[in-house]
Amino acid sequence: MYQGSCLCGAVVYQLHGEPRRVSHCHCRMCQKQHGAAFATYLSLPAAELHYTQGADAISRYQSSANVTRGFCRHCGSTLEWRASNEPNGYVALTVATLDTPIQFAQIPHICTESKSSWCPC
Ligand SMILES: [Zn+2]
Ligand SMILES: [Zn+2]
Repeated sequence: MYQGSCLCGAVVYQLHGEPRRVSHCHCRMCQKQHGAAFATYLSLPAAELHYTQGADAISRYQSSANVTRGFCRHCGSTLEWRASNEPNGYVALTVATLDTPIQFAQIPHICTESKSSWCPC
């Protein structure tokens, strides 16, 4: 089981399953929301994500018609990405907020057409 939390510690979550997918996303929305060159998300079925603390501290911004991005309203940590039309009912979580060590064999880079000129990768 994996556990993660936001910067201020108000939100704590557990993943009751292995990540099914992971990616470094270079889209403009991820760049803007994260204030970074790219965002790294893992995804798994939403039923395997459990907020054990601070679920009510999560604010959700609707970044496009079917997508909401959840973040801690106290500290601003980006936490989740959900698409209402996601066919498998998956939710994406920010890998950087995990507190449990995790390893991935390979992480694909996606949306690289908007990769920033100053990206280190
Ligand atoms: Zn927080
Ligand atoms: Zn993105």
